[in-house]
Amino acid sequence: MKPFQFIQPTDVATAIRTQKEAGASFLAGGTNLVDLMKMGIANPDKLVDIGRLPLRAVEPLANGLRLGALATNSEVADHPEVLKNYPLLSLAINAGASPQLRNMATTGGNLLQRTRCSYFFDLTMPCNKRVPGSGCGAIDGINRMHAIFGASDSCIAVNPSDMSVALRALDATVRVNGPSGERAIPMADFHRLPGNQPELDNTLQKGELIVAVELPAPAFTRHVHYLKVRDRTSYAFALVSVAAALDLDITNTIRDVRLAMGGVAHKPWRLSDAETFLKGKPATEDNFRQAAQIAMQGAKAYKYNQFKLKLAPNAILQALTAAVANA
Ligand code: SF4
Repeated sequence: MKPFQFIQPTDVATAIRTQKEAGASFLAGGTNLVDLMKMGIANPDKLVDIGRLPLRAVEPLANGLRLGALATNSEVADHPEVLKNYPLLSLAINAGASPQLRNMATTGGNLLQRTRCSYFFDLTMPCNKRVPGSGCGAIDGINRMHAIFGASDSCIAVNPSDMSVALRALDATVRVNGPSGERAIPMADFHRLPGNQPELDNTLQKGELIVAVELPAPAFTRHVHYLKVRDRTSYAFALVSVAAALDLDITNTIRDVRLAMGGVAHKPWRLSDAETFLKGKPATEDNFRQAAQIAMQGAKAYKYNQFKLKLAPNAILQALTAAVANA
């Protein structure tokens, strides 16, 4: 591993000022960045450890809940307010990684984790995300884990976060602080599609620090499900995942619905057209099947991930059915 400077600021302003310098990176739980450093994929000159900043609290808002950027994944998943009012988020977090990793990984870090495309991790292979302009090993390579929505000729990688899929479905907001002050970024705009700059996973500017993630007023407290389809039953990334949340009236008509997918795009993929189709309709298998077909419009598979074109609509149907049953 390349030698680096290690700095532990105790206030946000110093952390931002230090990270803005060339070659500096923030470090939180370290569950992703340290691995990347050991493999030579990330080579910061300076690590700004933010672990001493006062950003760990999970606090109620007048209309919602604020998750401090340093709240660990376990703390958020097990928090009474999250379990009661945002159970979809708890399910999604607990579908990810292992208990040991969830005890270390933070809310902000989870949003910033890098893709697990195997070519990104292989220094002998071309990868536009790791070395811009070098090519993409996955497009004509082994691409069974890769995107079916929103990919480009430069990159077909997927975002690996389960938590982000639930946050996208729940319309969370990312609060950041940086050299130009504070701003709020809707989850819809936080992660980006690869386009011709796949090295950029998100819309953060240099020096900007995630300070919190805010959830709006609870709206989906009962009929929720997070379905994660993967090669092993634990400690594996999603082939396809679905976050489903329904608000049903007493006749089982859908008042409101949220659907988002993981494992299919460079960002958490919201199924807005399928949501529009379902609103006001009865929660039936037939309507769920039609919604799943609508959600798949525009999907494009590569040589080894054709199976996702069948797996994804089946997963949407199964997640919605399970959400109805989950009361
Ligand atoms: Fe790199 Fe993206 Fe291609 Fe994977 S899919 S090799 S991350 S450019």
